[in-house]
Amino acid sequence: MHEPIITVLGGDGIGPEIMAATRQIIQAAQQVTQVNYHFVPMAFGGCSIDQFGEPLTDALLAQVKRSDAVLLAAVGGPKWDHYDVRPEAGLLGLRAAMQVYANLRPTKITAAAVKRSPLKAEIAQNTNFMIVRELTSGIYFGKPRHYAATQAVDTMAYARNEISRIITYAFQLAQQRDRHVTVVDKANVLATSKLWRDVAEEIHPQYPEITLDFEYVDAAAMKIVKSPQQFDVIVTSNLFGDILSDEAAAITGSIGTIPSESISENGPNLYEPIHGSAPDIAGQNIADPIGMINSAVLMLQHTFNDQATANVIERAMVAVLQQDQPVDLGGQLSTTAFTQRICTQIQQNS
Ligand code: ATP
Ligand code: MG
Repeated sequence: MHEPIITVLGGDGIGPEIMAATRQIIQAAQQVTQVNYHFVPMAFGGCSIDQFGEPLTDALLAQVKRSDAVLLAAVGGPKWDHYDVRPEAGLLGLRAAMQVYANLRPTKITAAAVKRSPLKAEIAQNTNFMIVRELTSGIYFGKPRHYAATQAVDTMAYARNEISRIITYAFQLAQQRDRHVTVVDKANVLATSKLWRDVAEEIHPQYPEITLDFEYVDAAAMKIVKSPQQFDVIVTSNLFGDILSDEAAAITGSIGTIPSESISENGPNLYEPIHGSAPDIAGQNIADPIGMINSAVLMLQHTFNDQATANVIERAMVAVLQQDQPVDLGGQLSTTAFTQRICTQIQQNS
């Protein structure tokens, strides 16, 4: 196999700071595990507008096609808010070009973040679920769609193969987790939800070790705040997943720490923290790089099957967090100080 190629998009705002931190940490870890990753940094978003006049260049798309994974920090900021083509348009274009059909958001509240969570500590500690959100279909894309003063229309449509692809993904993911899949829908009202249920029940016999259940989205929204420990893998449509992902982020109490992974059927996967470019704190060396680092850990695990390098990073980060934390978690550590501590810890552990 060739040396794995990772396209690295630092983007705007705090993006370059947290990306630099993450690359430094991967580099320290790969010295220990002797795996070599080849990083290709490219301009994307606002910085690409500044350099090339557009947020997403053909050169970047060509580079993405050549790569095994894409690591993205964040794009956008007030500087480009009044532009005709904004950095965020580049992000939608990138996701569309990469055809990422599933978006994964782990919700796990680490020891360091328990005190930030609005949940009771004993619930927060036992919360560990993954939302698998369908990303390329459903009501955000369905036709017809039109707006008029007297009536506006959106359409929720799902083809059987769009559902079976993501349900299968959820079952396979659950095999590596607690073997429990919850389909979240509104099957008492929506036709698309009925098809989701039928497809899930049809595929289930291929995964007899997995427990399958169904929740209405309103009930699921309540349970995410009342008893999130009961979930393992939640799989749901684009709209419901959008809403529940933000709710899930809120119960962790720490927007800066949560990663995401977007899965493509044939091309590279996209890994990015869930937060934005945080222009209000850019350049101050106080950004929390944990969401970016966790995104890289997901990449090592899922794209490269490199549990060794991922473990080296996670173990060092847990050890550092027991001593002190980044500013947004209530600690004293700047972005660079936190990063340096993790690198030192990696060397000490090896
Ligand atoms: P977007 O529209 O791109 O999602 P946003 O303005 O909605 O952007 P963020 O950029 O994520 O949201 O910022 C929301 C708040 O959270 C800001 O006050 C920001 O400073 C803070 N924040 C976001 N990410 C981090 C981080 N990694 N470390 C510390 N604070 C952060
Ligand atoms: Mg936002």
